Amino acid sequence: MTQETILGRGNMEGARLVRQWFEQLDATAKAGDPSAYVFVMGSFAEILRCFDLPVVFPEINSIQTAVRHVAHEMLNEAEDYGYSPDICGYVKADVSVQLRRGEHPMGRIPRPTLAVLTNACNTYIKWAEIWERMHGTRVFTLDVPGTRAAGRQSAPGSREFENDRRYVEGQIRELIGVCEELTGKRFDIDRLRQHLAWSNEMNGAWARILELNRTRPAVFNALTDGTIYLGVSNALRASEEGARYFRELAGELAYKKAQGIGTLSEETYRLVFVGVPCYPIFRRFNELFTEWGGSFVCSTYLWFASGGVNRGFQFDTDRPIESLAEGALLSVRDAMDSMFLNDRVIGEMIDEFAIDGVVYHPIKSCRTVSTGLADGRRALMEERDIPSLFIESDMMDRRVVSEAQMKNRADAFFEGLAARRQREAAASGG
Ligand code: SF4
Repeated sequence: MTQETILGRGNMEGARLVRQWFEQLDATAKAGDPSAYVFVMGSFAEILRCFDLPVVFPEINSIQTAVRHVAHEMLNEAEDYGYSPDICGYVKADVSVQLRRGEHPMGRIPRPTLAVLTNACNTYIKWAEIWERMHGTRVFTLDVPGTRAAGRQSAPGSREFENDRRYVEGQIRELIGVCEELTGKRFDIDRLRQHLAWSNEMNGAWARILELNRTRPAVFNALTDGTIYLGVSNALRASEEGARYFRELAGELAYKKAQGIGTLSEETYRLVFVGVPCYPIFRRFNELFTEWGGSFVCSTYLWFASGGVNRGFQFDTDRPIESLAEGALLSVRDAMDSMFLNDRVIGEMIDEFAIDGVVYHPIKSCRTVSTGLADGRRALMEERDIPSLFIESDMMDRRVVSEAQMKNRADAFFEGLAARRQREAAASGG
């Protein structure tokens, strides 16, 4: 393997796999075969794959419309149909896809036979009701207990944790019954063991990959490269191809670390990104930071949008359903904590990744992620002496994205970082 063949492989292969996944969805739609709609925070793909149900991620479908610059047309269409400008842009782009009978820039999207959702975002629940009304979709809501209070997560082994785990396990067993009923297939526990084993590889590699970015320079950009990795981690979760991809990706990034190869010619500032990216001007948004030598080395997005697999949880394939319940409880709870208790998560990242600044990006149409960001920032600033930037736009709606305004704010932020560095150098006699 040469440097030419190894470098950039993860991004190219990731894009190819996501395209291939959409092609498979297109074939499913054209054949009129069943599919399951799921969400990034708790997809239960390990169960759905046992029934050969292709998984569709409406959130990823919507991102693709923004990145491909057609989201605004679709948002208008959903608003003309009656949806408020205030609600989640992902929902409205999906409504437009449904009204267009699955037509999407990446191919046709199949209709949902089943929708599986967790309580990680309240919008999931109302969103699934739309499919229920439009298509008569069977909706299965899996209630995952969250953290009751900051810093008070129940630990595995405690009675409180075991009660919650059993509660999730009971619901997974119900979900299996629903899948049997809808597909007419019997559940095969050995297939579940195999899918869990592939998820184990993906989870382990994902945790290693995140950790590799502690190195200086960072080996991947958590905003741009990270979004590609996230796409594969969701779309190919619990599959052999997904496991292979992450094994190879971890190898590529370990190689970059060993060779000291970063993402920028000069990494001047190490940043953490908090929130959801600005997809309507995705590349330009990233450049507002990289042009100043700012590198996103980690993000809360890579935690919550991966459904919490960042913790690298390993399923016990000897007790598959029990262990799946434990993993789901830990990982979905972790995803929720990284949104709702973000000051704690960011505090840990600042130390682990040697962070110079925190970039908050609250977005108009995702209240779940954005509502608490101002409070989270204030709490963090009380605890830590670290510069931060708070810029608002949207992840879908280019009508509320002001590039010039964001650039002014980003420039001022970096000027502040530079001045601070000069002061520090002067104080240390450098
Ligand atoms: S409100 Fe936010 S977290 Fe919920 S579905 Fe929309 S984008 Fe996702």
